[in-house]
Amino acid sequence: MPRPLQALIHLDAMRHNLATLRARAPDARVWAVVKANAYGHGLAHAFEGFRAADGFACLNLEEAQGLRELGWRGPVLLLEGCFDARDLEVCSRLGLWHVVHHDAQIDALSAHKTQVPHHVFLKMNSGMNRLGYAPERFRAAWARLNALPQVDEITLMTHFSDADGERGIAHQVARFAQATEDLPGDRSLSNSAATLRHAQQAGVSADWIRPGVSLYGASPDHPEHRASDWNLRPTQSLRSELIAVQALQAGDTVGYGSSFTAPEAMPLGVAAGGYADGLLRAGGTGTPVIVAGVRTQIVGRVSMDMVTVDLRPLIDQGLTPAPGLPVTFWGQDPSGAVLPIDEVAQASGTIAYELMCGLTPRVPKHPVN
Ligand SMILES: *Cc1c(COP(=O)(O)O)cnc(C)c1O
Repeated sequence: MPRPLQALIHLDAMRHNLATLRARAPDARVWAVVKANAYGHGLAHAFEGFRAADGFACLNLEEAQGLRELGWRGPVLLLEGCFDARDLEVCSRLGLWHVVHHDAQIDALSAHKTQVPHHVFLKMNSGMNRLGYAPERFRAAWARLNALPQVDEITLMTHFSDADGERGIAHQVARFAQATEDLPGDRSLSNSAATLRHAQQAGVSADWIRPGVSLYGASPDHPEHRASDWNLRPTQSLRSELIAVQALQAGDTVGYGSSFTAPEAMPLGVAAGGYADGLLRAGGTGTPVIVAGVRTQIVGRVSMDMVTVDLRPLIDQGLTPAPGLPVTFWGQDPSGAVLPIDEVAQASGTIAYELMCGLTPRVPKHPVN
């Protein structure tokens, strides 16, 4: 018997979420963002689920190459562009589109020998201050690229720092619009949060949107909105089983550091799954979990390969705790109940992105429809 921990990848939910994002920005083309091993889902599974996307946006050449090997002949975008002049050879060979955000990348392009002119995404730093040209330097960069025989199309791009929050995107949209006013070319501005929250704002969902986390069924602005509020379904279910049950007496303690003390006699479950699988050690006592279809919580510390759970709610439901009962750490439970990954992340002091990406290689991933 293999260890009973696995991640189910829901291809039907991926298709559904892609359709949801399309409906928010019906005139835009959609990049399915598949960096970080498709937010922990596996590139091949994401490719299967998002086949109806207009293109795939990724971080590095391995991912881009992987997409070509899977048979994708449409657009592939490198979100941070080339890290080295030699990367341009691969871009030419595989027909990759790439972001240009600083001068060394233009220098490399101008020295690159190619028969196939490139489609580049010129990135503006409109206020996030990570990557891109300042608005006042953007036009000069565009003119330089536009004069290169190695370049045939330039899409104008920026990225929002606060699309999910109170500050919003208006200040960045205004800067971008002003600095690009009479420049030709497509535009690409919005991530998940901007698409879901601000798509009605002029220019925001122009030409190409770049949703990531929402395609994987998490809400980009939890807890203000739940994933279900945005009509998104979980694409990743981390499932396990109880491998042991203990009967605690009042005053008994649990696990390393004895951080949980039983307030009364209670059954305790031990589930396969620990921080070496991608559960967070920061998410001990209080983190929600589903056991046998019943919502309960982790108690004590998360250890490397195991986690301990409070089984009193099962007793309340008339169930008999026993090894083999199904456990869902997040996503869809076999009972049909859903434990949103956003809630689990919040209980561990983080965001769904980190949980999704953090599944470790020893967790098998099984695509299901
Ligand atoms: C990761 C990324 C996205 C996707 O962001 P989500 O918040 O996951 O939708 C979009 N654009 C760029 C440039 C990114 O790096």
